[in-house]
Formats: sequence, structure tokens, C-alpha cells
Amino acid sequence: MDINFNMPVKVIMEEDCIRKNAALLKEYGTRALIVTGKRSAKINGALQDVTEALTSLGIKHFIFDKVMANPTVSCVYEGAAFAREHKADFVIGIGGGSPMDAAKAVALLAVTEIPQEQLFMAEPGSRALPIVMVPTTAGTGSEVTRNAILSSDILQTKRSIAAPVMFAKLALLDAKYMKDLPMPITVHTALDALSHAVEGMLSRRATKLSDSIAIGSIEILMECLKLLAFQKEQNISMEVREKLLYGSMLAGMVISHTGTTAVHSMGYSLTYFKNIDHGRANALLLPGFLEFVAKSKPESVKQILEAMGMNSIREYEVLTDQLLGERDGITEEEANQFTKIASEAKSITNSWAVLSKQEIYELYVSSLNRKRV
Ligand code: NAP
Ligand code: ZN
Repeated sequence: MDINFNMPVKVIMEEDCIRKNAALLKEYGTRALIVTGKRSAKINGALQDVTEALTSLGIKHFIFDKVMANPTVSCVYEGAAFAREHKADFVIGIGGGSPMDAAKAVALLAVTEIPQEQLFMAEPGSRALPIVMVPTTAGTGSEVTRNAILSSDILQTKRSIAAPVMFAKLALLDAKYMKDLPMPITVHTALDALSHAVEGMLSRRATKLSDSIAIGSIEILMECLKLLAFQKEQNISMEVREKLLYGSMLAGMVISHTGTTAVHSMGYSLTYFKNIDHGRANALLLPGFLEFVAKSKPESVKQILEAMGMNSIREYEVLTDQLLGERDGITEEEANQFTKIASEAKSITNSWAVLSKQEIYELYVSSLNRKRV
């Protein structure tokens, strides 16, 4: 059995995680740049917990709170300039995948000169400021991956930059910050995590170890998703919040090893051009992708369905419909445009079952235009 698995992030998950582990922050520097979104971290308590911890340790901090959903290339260059201006020597990302990804890119660009137009072409470099992550959504697993997904207006799509130095040194996980996470974001991010674990199992780079982590992640995420499908109000228990956070972190470990596949490559255009949430975009495409894979790899899909506790792809699709509501629709022109972009993405071939251009087109149309089952 050949295994080569690298997971250099120290992960600590517990209630009041930041307060209890504040002393660890001293290891990373004396001038912290906090990278976060515009609002949520100020409301859910994560920003306050981090700034109090830093102040108690005598660590100076500077806040860059301009990160938008699906962060742009110009946003992270602005953050890197801000980091240099304040002589930050480490970076703390607080938020969902967007601020966490932005934090990784800022940590890299603060100490590595890469012209904007070469960002996705160049080797990203071997230096970055140390990174600490505090996730406030449970979906992307960005706290344990080495990728930053950025929106490029030059390329008219979302693209990943990745380097080993972009792995966080420390991830502090506390589900209490998700207490008031709105239901649609909870559902979309959970489905993103599920997609990571499932795509990880279908990746060419999957190993026995990544499959074991993926199966554990799928089981726990599906247990929660089945509950969320029947939850009318926003009364999700802390136990479920913790399970979602744990399951999404596991799924992040899976993709840090395997990468994502066609679902993510295709989902990016749905987000970039149609403003569909990242997790929702993947969730719309996943059942159709499973149907496609089942034609050539039925045993892999069977294993995934078993972990999901589902008897068929159809049964999973019904659950997806309950969670997502009406599909978002796609025009012929959009499907053609997105097919061209997805067929050129690197991860489209990172699976044993590779879609042809025609199959990508059909998957877009059938997934986005299909009526609820
Ligand atoms: P997000 O874009 O980070 O956040 C979505 C929304 O949720 C924002 O409005 C945010 O508000 C709000 N929010 C965050 N935490 C909250 C909380 N605790 N309570 C209430 N509202 C909260 O969403 P995401 O789905 O977590 O991240 C998506 C991004 O991650 C995409 O760009 C995707 O491509 C990327 N991604 C990266 C990886 C990876 O491996 N690096 C993997 C998958 C996805 P504020 O803006 O005010 O904070
Ligand atoms: Zn994702």
C-alpha cells in the first residue's frame, strides 16, 4: 500500500478555543494582520476573541476587513500592500472560505513579488508569512488546505493558487461562531464540504487513507444534512454545528490531498457569472456527476452512496432538492460559454471518469434546468 500524505496544520477544536489556546499565537510573531470579511466576524464574536487574545499577549494587530465573497485578485494585492505597510509578521484569517483564502494569498504576496498578470502562471513561491485560521462557516475546509481560490477578471473565472507555504500553521475551530449562521449559508457550505469528500473519493489522487477520511466526513455531513432538510427555522443545535465543522475540516484534509474534480471546475462559472453561492453551485452539479461516473465506475459510486446512507443517486437527488429548492436555470448561451471555460480547467481531468465537452454541456443543462423530483 503506497501512501504519501502531508497534513502540516495543527488543528485544535474546542469550545472557547481561541481563549484557551491564545498563548500559541506568540509563536508566530509580534505584529498580526487580521484578514476578514466586512461584517460577520464583528457580530459572531470571532474578531473580538482574536483581538482580546492578541492584546493580552502584547501582540500588535491591524485589521484588513475588505474581503468580499469570492475574493478578487485586486483585493488580495491590496491586503498584501496593507500587510507590508504595517510590517505584519503573521496573518490571521477569520471568516468563511473567502477571508481564509484571501489571508493565504495575502500571506504569500506580502513577502513574494508576483506581478498581478502572472499570478496564476508563476510558481507561487516558497515564502509566506505564518498563517493562523479561524473558520466561521463549516464548508470550505480552507483552514487545512494550501489553496486560495480567487476571482480573476482577466481570466473571467475563479482560479486556484496553491503552494505548501500557504498551509496554515494553526487552525482554531470553535462552532460557537456559527450559532447564527443563516440557514441558506449553512446548507450551501455543508453541501460544499460534502462535494469535497465525494470528489476526493473520485479523484485520480485518492488513496486508501484519503478515502477513509472522506468516508468519515460523508457519514457525519450526511447525518447533519438529513436533519437540515427538515429544519424550518434556524434552530440548529450546537451539536449539529460542531459535527458540520468537524466534517468540513475532514473534507478539507481530503481535498488537500486529492484536489477537486469536474464539479468544482464547472461550479466556478456558476458562481462567477451567475452569482450562485460556491457550495450551491457544486451541489446542483453533484447528482448528475455521480450519474455520469456510475456508468464507468459503479463500484466507486456504490461506496459513496453507502457512506451517505442512500440507496440510490435518485434518493440523494431528492434530498438535494429538499435542501436547495428550485434549480437556478441556465440558458443555451451560458451553457456553451461555461462549457468552454470548464473544459480548459486543470481539475476537470482529475477524475477517473472524464467528461467530454459535450458531456460537460449536457451536465450543465440537465443539472440547472431539471425540475424538482
Ligand atoms: P464566504 O464567501 O466566506 O462567506 C459567505 C457569507 O457568509 C458572507 O456574507 C459572510 O459575511 C457570511 N458569514 C461568514 N461567517 C458567518 C457567520 N459565522 N455568521 C453569519 N454570517 C457569516 O463563504 P464560504 O462558502 O465559506 O466560502 C466560499 C469561498 O471559499 C469561495 O471563494 C470558494 O471558492 C472558496 N473555497 C476554498 C476552498 C479551499 O480549499 N481553499 C475550498 C472550497 C471553497 P462577511 O463577508 O461579513 O464575513
Ligand atoms: Zn468547494
